[in-house]
Amino acid sequence: MEDRGVSYRFDFRRYHLPFQAPLRTAHGPWREREGVMVRLTDAQGNSGYGEAAPIPWFGTETVDEAESVCRGLGEHVTPETLASLPDRVACLKNALAAARRADDPELAARKPLGVAALLPAGRAALGKIGAKADAGFRIFKWKVGVGDADEELGLLDDVCATLPDGAKLRLDANGAWDRRQAERWLERCADRPVEFVEQPSFAKASEGASARRRTDDLLLGLAGDFPTPLALDESIANDQDVERWLGLGWPGVFVVKPALLADVEVAVARLSAARADVVFSSALETLVGARAALAAAFTWTGKPRALGFGVWPLFADSRFDGPYERPFLSGEDVARLNPETAWTALN
Ligand code: MG
Repeated sequence: MEDRGVSYRFDFRRYHLPFQAPLRTAHGPWREREGVMVRLTDAQGNSGYGEAAPIPWFGTETVDEAESVCRGLGEHVTPETLASLPDRVACLKNALAAARRADDPELAARKPLGVAALLPAGRAALGKIGAKADAGFRIFKWKVGVGDADEELGLLDDVCATLPDGAKLRLDANGAWDRRQAERWLERCADRPVEFVEQPSFAKASEGASARRRTDDLLLGLAGDFPTPLALDESIANDQDVERWLGLGWPGVFVVKPALLADVEVAVARLSAARADVVFSSALETLVGARAALAAAFTWTGKPRALGFGVWPLFADSRFDGPYERPFLSGEDVARLNPETAWTALN
């Protein structure tokens, strides 16, 4: 949609979408995705769509906050109003920027990108690898830090032995480990086909600034002491975190959930200028947010790493799903996603 400096008609719809099955998180079961979809329509009647899909325990705004700002905007908005929204509502700013952004004309022609296959935590992972390997997946993501630490570590070799030739394992601890546990894992990973270890440790904002600093130091120390790359996920909750970790010279991978960034284009340009190592990942949004997030991933010119978008089917109502889990996504798969269908389905 062209930005002609005039006003847009603004509509929004809050949504509650149950997942097919509750997701296990560090904060207990997550049963439904809540968020806000937005639509901006220009004077010519062209509409653009966006989705605010916050993850409040990452430190984003809440859905109530996003909705309350939407109510305050009224029926007509100008680009100036949109630009003046507070950083606090980064997910909403992301949605409004997506609704105004013209499609990448090259999107449908972009080269396919690999997708990481999601494995269940614990021993259940072993039974899932074969079928996913047959389907063509070569990057497998296994959740760790969920069950007993010794038992999980004992399974690592079984999981590695079950991988197809040339495959790599991505471990995600979701911040569950202390220093000792992280060191044991990283020692073990050193000579195994582990692509990277995601978020070994994490301190929430509620734990205070000094706990956060200690954890940041721990992560930087671990990244320097072990050969397996580390990835930051929970640590990258907004645009400011991207800047902060670039400033700290983070030597590992940045897991970027574009849906959480107020200004995806600026953040991606900053990461690119710093030659950062980036994995693009889902925030468990619907196809509306995913289309915008994936479009950003397809413009990345740095080292390609498998996308963290092997999440669908995800919703009880499949009209909100993106492309079902497959080993590669093409630009055409993304271009084909039609936000209008999801918007209409919310009616
Ligand atoms: Mg993660």
